[in-house]
Amino acid sequence: MRRARALSEFDIIRRFFTREARSAVLGAGDDAALVRVSPGSELVVSTDMLVSGRHFFAGADPELLGYKAMAVNLSDMAAMGARPRWALLALAAPRADETWLRRFSRGFMRIARAHRVDLIGGDTNRGPLNICVQILGEVARGQALRRDGARAGDDIWVSGTLGDAALALAHLKKRIALNARERAFCLARLNRPSPRVELGLKLRGMAHSAIDISDGLLADLGHVLERSRVAADIQFESLPRSRALAGHITQKIARACLVAGGDDYELCFTASPGRRRAVLRLGTRLSLPLTRIGRIRLGKGLALFDAQGGKLRINGRGFDHFA
Ligand code: ADP
Ligand code: MG
Repeated sequence: MRRARALSEFDIIRRFFTREARSAVLGAGDDAALVRVSPGSELVVSTDMLVSGRHFFAGADPELLGYKAMAVNLSDMAAMGARPRWALLALAAPRADETWLRRFSRGFMRIARAHRVDLIGGDTNRGPLNICVQILGEVARGQALRRDGARAGDDIWVSGTLGDAALALAHLKKRIALNARERAFCLARLNRPSPRVELGLKLRGMAHSAIDISDGLLADLGHVLERSRVAADIQFESLPRSRALAGHITQKIARACLVAGGDDYELCFTASPGRRRAVLRLGTRLSLPLTRIGRIRLGKGLALFDAQGGKLRINGRGFDHFA
């Protein structure tokens, strides 16, 4: 009979977080990892933390948490037009719960492997559940998609559909009632976002600026406008919406999700109008709808228009009016 014993920190690292790092000179196990950056590339580095009670509910499915911790970091690479290569994982967990760790590791490793990202190190501690991933990627020198590159006259595009993850949250908080099919779709969008890594890579040399939508379109596009010192006109009717969201668009909460809902991890990017056909072709090639939602202009701020050309008043993270 196998005697159950508490897992030590080293058992945890060895069993759940040590994998062969094919693309590193030296992976986990030493005091630090060694990586060799491809010639002509810049190293792209980012970190994102998931905190219990803030980014997820206590008792959340560990496999989904592992998945999402990696996915949100991949999304940052996508937004930079970078090829993700390596990751580090700093994990605090209240207990050495073998089942939890196995499932967390499975979710994490699965999406990491799918994007050929090697886990090359991290830190493991006992404490309130906290998941911090650092990701490293590469981009050809000078080719990164940045927030500060939008130019007056650029089209503004978004990938996929907006607001589905926020709609799932609104449903969980009983602020809207989704039917079973809508709920399943929106929950998948919330729990298993698809980082648009391939899109980001293909947008290099095509887009002038990009950002991933983690805090909602208005907020994230707002960052691009601020960094690029330009303004934007957005057509509300053109914002790409799923069937689930479209079915509730008469409700204020659904409209707020569409323009300001977070957690979608789609890309918002700008490109010159001369690139329209190329962008649409790219969407077709990736089987990912790419939708033109407005235009960059000189000035400051963001204006949202209804189908009749009326200006919608934006308040905080949402907007009013709507006859
Ligand atoms: P140190 O005492 O130098 O901080 P640790 O004992 O924390 O080293 O970690 C030993 C090795 O295991 C290091 O190479 C570290 O990067 C790796 N490691 C620790 N925790 C994790 C984790 N959660 N995921 C991946 N690698 C980890
Ligand atoms: Mg350590």
